Amino acid sequence: MGQEQLQFIGGARRSGSGARLSIIAPATGAVIASGAGANAADVESAVTAARAAFPGWAGLTPGARSDLMHEWARILRVRAGDLAAIESVNAGKPIRLAAEFDVPGTIDNTAFFAGAARHLEGKAAAEYSGDHTSSIRREPHGVIGSIAPWNYPLQMAAWKILPAVAAGNTVVLKPSELTPLSSLLFAEAAADAGVPPGVINVLTGTGGEAGQALVEHPAVAMVSFTGSTGVGKRVAATAAGAVKRVHLELGGKAPFVVFDDADPEAAARGAVAGALINTGQDCTAATRAYVQRPLFEEFVGRVADLMDRVVLGPVENPETDMGPLISRAHRDKVLGMVERARESGAKIVRGGRIPEHTSTAGSYFEPTLITGAAQDSEIVQHEIFGPVLVVLPFDSDDEAIALANDTVYGLAASAWSRDVFRTQRASREIQAGCVWINDHIPIISEMPHGGYKSSGFGKDMSAYAFEEYTNIKHVMSDITGTAHKPWHDIIFRAG
Ligand code: NDP
Repeated sequence: MGQEQLQFIGGARRSGSGARLSIIAPATGAVIASGAGANAADVESAVTAARAAFPGWAGLTPGARSDLMHEWARILRVRAGDLAAIESVNAGKPIRLAAEFDVPGTIDNTAFFAGAARHLEGKAAAEYSGDHTSSIRREPHGVIGSIAPWNYPLQMAAWKILPAVAAGNTVVLKPSELTPLSSLLFAEAAADAGVPPGVINVLTGTGGEAGQALVEHPAVAMVSFTGSTGVGKRVAATAAGAVKRVHLELGGKAPFVVFDDADPEAAARGAVAGALINTGQDCTAATRAYVQRPLFEEFVGRVADLMDRVVLGPVENPETDMGPLISRAHRDKVLGMVERARESGAKIVRGGRIPEHTSTAGSYFEPTLITGAAQDSEIVQHEIFGPVLVVLPFDSDDEAIALANDTVYGLAASAWSRDVFRTQRASREIQAGCVWINDHIPIISEMPHGGYKSSGFGKDMSAYAFEEYTNIKHVMSDITGTAHKPWHDIIFRAG
């Protein structure tokens, strides 16, 4: 595998003008592609292409945009195998996850937004003043600068691009420099479906160079960013300087609250799946399990047993449950956090190490279970983004809710109980953009994804995403046809 053209600008692959980038397979450390990265000149070309495409794309009927997006979804279905293979290799995902989660989710999102393009909602026109007809126009912003992370490269590209273009915007996407390959294939599929050149552009480059230039570009009307809270703050500060609209999907630290009447088997299985999905590199991953004291020991035991049975291995092997972390640097960061937890007195019940049989190639890390950490410790408060679950006990329902809300994040959470009043209370009082009841992780195209607190604002997926990617214009038309309107008398009374 190897390709030199890592940019997609104006409907075609191109070489960048910046420094050379090597794309690494996290499972093996092998270089799978390399080419010139994007710099500010490439940002200029991509934004110019997106600007040029905007009037034509925005001017299409919703039905015409919808037809092209349906064709795009059809092409993605045909290419599903290729997409899964490249996503698996580039992001270090077990092929089962790429083929059964990332790719079908992306295709479903594409089909959803193909339909949703025809259903932009607004208020019915009405005579609110009595003398005018007021109506609402929902208009696209123009060129959207989108920035995506490396954990779900294809799905993140889809979440950024689809609602934007369905609403009539054009997009310049900068995926993570580590994982651009599936985003390029996604954009090519759109072009092959007949989406005009320039509507979707992909720039492979570093955040500091291409990302920064994209956020700063005066012709970029809105910035849509998914990534860490730290970088998100910088992006928001830059965008604020030009009063640009910003949509931020940031970090998470999802609590997983298990009340004493929960099904222990369901909770344990849910915790392992929720903590280890995508090797824990999931912004909604279950990271902090709070378990009511009577169930605590049983829960920890069951989770440990299940973690012992998780299979690490080559990503192309359908028997592999868990792949590597995205890079050696990230693996070292995760290891450092676990080590500091150990040094501060926490107990590492399972894992916490680089598995011996994989330590020479790739960036694997063992499924890790921790107890005895303090609520205010780094491992409980900060995003780890690795296969690490910390379990803490609680006594009362009030305490559980307080602990669940005790981080700066608010992206997702779950509550486990057979008591409908407890779960209703949890769903109301936990501050998060999504609260699952007796499950953790599932997402669907029809429903929104987005954060509270330092997890950001704005929604991905669902019709709610259109709130970010459209502007509301009020049109107020006089229906009296009179020159001298009664309200003029408040201002002047001349004859
Ligand atoms: P980062 O914040 O490090 O990077 C995200 C993107 O921002 C990358 O494309 C990066 O480029 C780019 N970037 C970096 N610096 C700048 C800059 N100055 N200006 C513009 N762009 C910049 O996040 P990660 O890639 O490490 O992804 C993991 C994070 O993403 C986690 O915190 C996770 O919680 C969050 N996330 C949130 C989701 C949500 O829906 N809320 C979903 C998925 C992930 P490059 O990498 O090429 O340098």
